[in-house]
Amino acid sequence: MRDRATPGGDNQPRELLGHSELALTRAEQSKTQRVVFYDPSIDECHRSRSALSIELKSAIERDELKLFYQPQIDVASGNLIGFEVLLRWFHPERGLVPPDEFIPIAEETGLIVPIGEWVLRTACVEASKWKNPYKIAVNVATAQLATGDLPMIILDILGRTGLSAKRLELEITETSIIDDHHHTLNIVRQLKQLGISIAMDDFGTGYSSLSMLQTFPFDKIKIDRSFISGVSNSDQSSAIARATIVLAEGLKMKTLAEGVEDEDDLAFLRQNGCLEAQGYFFGKPVPIEEIEHLVNADLETTDEDEPQKVFQLSRVI
Ligand code: C2E
Ligand code: CA
Ligand code: CA
Repeated sequence: MRDRATPGGDNQPRELLGHSELALTRAEQSKTQRVVFYDPSIDECHRSRSALSIELKSAIERDELKLFYQPQIDVASGNLIGFEVLLRWFHPERGLVPPDEFIPIAEETGLIVPIGEWVLRTACVEASKWKNPYKIAVNVATAQLATGDLPMIILDILGRTGLSAKRLELEITETSIIDDHHHTLNIVRQLKQLGISIAMDDFGTGYSSLSMLQTFPFDKIKIDRSFISGVSNSDQSSAIARATIVLAEGLKMKTLAEGVEDEDDLAFLRQNGCLEAQGYFFGKPVPIEEIEHLVNADLETTDEDEPQKVFQLSRVI
């Protein structure tokens, strides 16, 4: 790793060492750059990430984290089935920090473990208060699965909130599985014994190994939005989406298509037998107040096994 002269020609040994360490870290994190030269923007980026990670530590106590809910729909009927729970950070000075910015920092620092537990608890407390038993799907990070105590935490949450296990789904990505296959399989089996369901998130974007689908007892495959938005205009995307639907069917797993943005995307899913859908066409993620009219609506029946039969809307929010 070679360090360039710092701007202004200030090349004190300690400063040079500090700069080369930053360049080294950047090189280690980069997937494409094998050699990285120091440049002051690295310093700025590093400072900003360090500041964010310090502030993120106290975000829960300061009540800056909020949950947003995005509807999930039964394709054949257009009925609402439940909601994906998505985390938001309202920073007092920076405003809304997108999850793509702070989740990686939370993962790097290990903060994702307490934050992820807060998300699970808060979402289950909320959902347990709803009049109508819609499902909630909560994202779970690799580190949460790695600690091994997730089944105990969930058992505790379900016990305290009284939420039926059937209403909780966890979304996990392939990275969690690849990191430690045997351990994750063991945890996933314990979670399934509690009666909750497991969805494979962002399918098609990583290694998407077929043997993993054979080994892991997923209930659902979520087809990544990069294949779904505009699917009817792309031969490649439609081939991948169709193949995934057939594959899931054969494995007795459900399919949910993410990123449904218009009527054409939905028509494609209907024609090809995809069971569930989610995307801006039905509704963007919104705070709890904006779904209250749905979750607490007066319905003819509140049968927990068939909540989708009780509320029909093709465009929900
Ligand atoms: P994800 O799990 O794939 O979540 C879906 C993302 O797609 C959400 O972005 C959602 O707003 C966006 N989306 C939904 N429908 C559409 C659509 O029709 N078009 C487009 N272009 N985008 C759509 P969001 O909320 O910014 O979340 C980004 C990622 O942050 C999530 O991706 C997930 O990986 C992570 N994340 C969010 N909340 C949590 C959490 O509580 N825990 C963990 N571990 N990760 C989370
Ligand atoms: Ca997800
Ligand atoms: Ca996803």
